[in-house]
Amino acid sequence: MTIEGISSSQGDAVVGEYDVVVIGGGPAGLSAGIYAKRAGLECIILEKGVPGGQVLTSPSIENYPGFPEIPGMKLMDAMSDHARRYVDIKEGEEVLRVRGGDRFEITTNSGRYLARAIILTTGAIHRKLDVAGEEGMVGKGVSYCATCDGFFYKGREVVVVGGGNTALTDALYLHSIGCKLSIVHRRDSFRADRHLHESIRKNNIPVFWNTVVEEIVGKDEVTAIRLRDLKTGAVHTKPVNGVFIAVGEVPSSQLAAELGLDMDQGGFVSVDKSFRTNVPFVYAAGDVSGGIRQIVAAVHGGAAAALSCFEDLMNPYYRR
Ligand code: NAP
Repeated sequence: MTIEGISSSQGDAVVGEYDVVVIGGGPAGLSAGIYAKRAGLECIILEKGVPGGQVLTSPSIENYPGFPEIPGMKLMDAMSDHARRYVDIKEGEEVLRVRGGDRFEITTNSGRYLARAIILTTGAIHRKLDVAGEEGMVGKGVSYCATCDGFFYKGREVVVVGGGNTALTDALYLHSIGCKLSIVHRRDSFRADRHLHESIRKNNIPVFWNTVVEEIVGKDEVTAIRLRDLKTGAVHTKPVNGVFIAVGEVPSSQLAAELGLDMDQGGFVSVDKSFRTNVPFVYAAGDVSGGIRQIVAAVHGGAAAALSCFEDLMNPYYRR
């Protein structure tokens, strides 16, 4: 809805007023949009890139019910096409600021929106190792996405850093496309699911246990990695062409901080079982609110947040 007399091309002008604005177009945001619209709320989804979130980079999803095996991009295309049947998704629209008040005011790179409620589904970003050489070598041998960049390393020497589901899935992916691969993990056991450990073992992928990265070495591109064995203290340099870092996620919670939302120590937004935050009419779901960080959990969170929002805005009969 465009406010009368105000053009949407005026940069900082108010371009729309909604019952609820969903910020972030991953699985949680898309699900929130579908449920909010179907509950009769005026709603829009603001997405700074393209809809789909981190799932877009998953080579294969095998645990989303109804889809025994589907590439992440295909699943998210289907989900965003479904959401678009109901709700407008503004792509490339990054939220820069949010303010509370009578109405929430949401400022993006192309305008301002007013809303009675906000559902925050801003997701999480890849955690960095914060070691020498990492920052300067992104795109020159350092990658946080095996599916995106793995192909360039076919037949070449790479390491995957981490011991969670992402690291082991990435390792299997890189192995299957023909990279010469080892895993570097800081402990003596993986935290990833059992079946992934088994696949790593069966495929004879070597693991440097109890080992941390001290430095990523190279000038114009990565040439080696310096590793330290935490048990012996020994340091050695391993020649490599690529370093795939998969050491977890950091929530994108800057907007949550602006809104004064309670967060845990890791910066994940605290929500109750209905996905309400501590601030009335603000809800959070998906990776930004932590939990098991699964697609199925994100779509649940988005739906539950939208229905809580409906209850709070509309006060339906069953609440009285
Ligand atoms: P994660 O489960 O948090 O694992 C992160 C890994 O990185 C851990 O092994 C951790 O070591 C290690 N690590 C963390 N900081 C490090 C540092 N500074 N230096 C070296 N190592 C470090 O993260 P994730 O694997 O990205 O998974 C995130 C969530 O997505 C999880 O809930 C996971 O189950 C889910 N996921 C699911 C699937 C699937 O079901 N198909 C696929 C991918 C991810 P420690 O073990 O020592 O802490």
